[in-house]
Amino acid sequence: MAYSYEAPVSQSLFDRASVVTPGGVNSPVRAFRAVGGTPRFMVSGTGPYLTDADGREYVDLVCSWGPMILGHSHPEVIAAVQEAVSRGTSFGTPGEGEVALAEEIVARIEPVEQVRLVSSGTEATMSAIRLARGFTGRAKVVKFAGCYHGHVDALLAAAGSGLATFGLPDTPGVTGATAGDTVVLPYNDLDAVRAAFAAHPGEIACVITEASPGNMGVVPPAEGFNAGLKELCAADGALYISDEVMTGFRTSKAGWYGVDGVRPDLMTFGKVMGGGFPAAAFGGRADVMAHLAPAGPVYQAGTLSGNPVATAAGLAQLRLLDDAAYAKIDAVSAELRSLVGDAFTKEGVAHTVSSASNMFSVFFTDQPVRNYDDAKQQEAFRFTAFFHSMLEQGVYLPPSAFESWFVSTAHDERAIERIAAALPAAARAASEATA
Ligand code: PLP
Repeated sequence: MAYSYEAPVSQSLFDRASVVTPGGVNSPVRAFRAVGGTPRFMVSGTGPYLTDADGREYVDLVCSWGPMILGHSHPEVIAAVQEAVSRGTSFGTPGEGEVALAEEIVARIEPVEQVRLVSSGTEATMSAIRLARGFTGRAKVVKFAGCYHGHVDALLAAAGSGLATFGLPDTPGVTGATAGDTVVLPYNDLDAVRAAFAAHPGEIACVITEASPGNMGVVPPAEGFNAGLKELCAADGALYISDEVMTGFRTSKAGWYGVDGVRPDLMTFGKVMGGGFPAAAFGGRADVMAHLAPAGPVYQAGTLSGNPVATAAGLAQLRLLDDAAYAKIDAVSAELRSLVGDAFTKEGVAHTVSSASNMFSVFFTDQPVRNYDDAKQQEAFRFTAFFHSMLEQGVYLPPSAFESWFVSTAHDERAIERIAAALPAAARAASEATA
């Protein structure tokens, strides 16, 4: 596909980057491989806007893949960071900031009785699985196709996010022994979970699921699915791990738990709780968490865990996320979903705007999408045309048809008007696209 617009400074930065970094990026989906063209190198962000190295401004609907729920450069978050930085950047000792952040998490999310801070969502899920295995003395892990839990070896089988974007079933570098303990099941299929427990009685350490998946596009759990998982786990003595790295502190004050109320044994968090810095966490039942070193035998550690700057940013962000903030984000999401849906309907493009609370994405199909196989049936080539038209008109979408769109409290009427103005031409481009 030819692009009628250029980004010469981004292109030259990408050329430089490609010499010293594999594929020119530090995380695969940033490379625009699924949609083609030059990835934009961003230099600054304010509110709902990003500015790239060529000086072009975009309305941002990626929000750093979730963390920037208050928009970019929120003055109170920046002030908290500056105050923390002025006292030093890392001590390698306990500090009050990490206690305060842990208290905020425990206060918001009732099933989290204790929490351990880490630096990425990947670390959180990796550690939660180790803990589940250590606690139960069992090896097997059940996960769902299309769910992404970070690049943990055992969880990369049939994962979403970048693996969905690039159509990778799994990845070299993960040994058969590691993958052999992972049971991958279709999402939203409780019968498959029942069958897995019947096939491996007393062997499954945990079932890990995205609380509401956003890494194969947005595919919410069917009514009763999470509750069913919890029940089946409890009956077999396995742990139910809800991965809220994406949904946590986004889909409500208490994340997806605040939406469906199903009580996990362990939960994982990241993104929003770091305020744009590398802070993440896992937590849950105190009797399970007690197995973690130094209280218990399951080892887990981190040089920068609970970093004072990251915890200051995260805490400042969480404290600003009150009921009014969530009402605003929900309203922005609802308005955009309706604008997007109307634009496609007007152009006769088969589509489904799929949402879970304020997270949403578009599938280019009018058939129901309940799992990864359904998601892959969409006409993803239409997304490419849609994406580039939006980009050209100054709206930055996730560069993949298999990712959630994210909004923030900073998306005001002006930003929404800019998106609304871009949608008709982009929907037309999607309708005219050919495979
Ligand atoms: N879990 C989920 C649900 C995610 O969406 C992600 C990242 O997108 C992760 C885990 C991994 O988090 P990180 O990229 O911080 O390692």
